[in-house]
Amino acid sequence: MKFGTLYAYWTHEWTGDYKHFAKKVKDIGFDILEISAGDLLKMSDTELTELKALAADLGIEISSNIGPPKSKDVASADPAVRQAGITFLTDIMKAMDKLDSRALVGVMYTYWPNEFDDLDKQAAWDRGVQSVKQLGKIAGDLGIDYCLEVVNRFETNILNTCEEAVQYLKDVDCDSVKMLLDTFHMNIEEDNMADAIRLAGSSLGHVHLGEGNRNLPGQGSLPWNDIGKALRDIGFSKGVVMEPFVTMGGTVGEDIKVWRDISRGADAAQMDKNISESLAFVRKAFLG
Ligand code: MN
Repeated sequence: MKFGTLYAYWTHEWTGDYKHFAKKVKDIGFDILEISAGDLLKMSDTELTELKALAADLGIEISSNIGPPKSKDVASADPAVRQAGITFLTDIMKAMDKLDSRALVGVMYTYWPNEFDDLDKQAAWDRGVQSVKQLGKIAGDLGIDYCLEVVNRFETNILNTCEEAVQYLKDVDCDSVKMLLDTFHMNIEEDNMADAIRLAGSSLGHVHLGEGNRNLPGQGSLPWNDIGKALRDIGFSKGVVMEPFVTMGGTVGEDIKVWRDISRGADAAQMDKNISESLAFVRKAFLG
């Protein structure tokens, strides 16, 4: 397993100075920095190459996280919107290839956050499957894992459980398309988190970690030893990436619904200390 974090632990907008965060996560001891995939389209080839070189120098990997906007929904009833989504995600994967980022992770079977104004789940499912088949082929050609994130009922009506994702992946039938399980979402939807991980098995391409309130792993009550054991049982060797959201404010605070200071007044140094301790906790729980 390789351990990482999303940069947005430290930001209030969905963007950041990724060179700064690459060095920071390396200093803390992570193997992976997760960034916002949409930002790659704003970066020049030179910027992508520089970030790639820095990550290689530091010996870290970069995963790319996306919640596509509604105008780029690959499951939309509007064919023009679906095509815009396919073009958008294809362009992102081409930029990822230049950056040597090999995991695209998120809700790339629809848009996020969902507005629940079209509740025909089966129709959105079928349209999404057709789009993801095309995108999976492109991902496969580029050597990218296209990891579909299963999220809770308040964020989508399409994939809420591992069991649903297993069926979706069967329908897509493409090796480069995998599943992303996130402990925060699983805690709401799965009967048993460890069993869900074992059910995903080799189709699991990426994992997100957070407590039930999205605090740092180790601060809450999720069954981390059981989760770690299940990941070892399936021989999971890919990215295990924290997505802690502990401070209020900005677009991140609004999108994630952080309405109180979960960090309990942590200053910058304390924030770094807390995530460093959480990484040590997760390594211990997961490596057995
Ligand atoms: Mn997640």
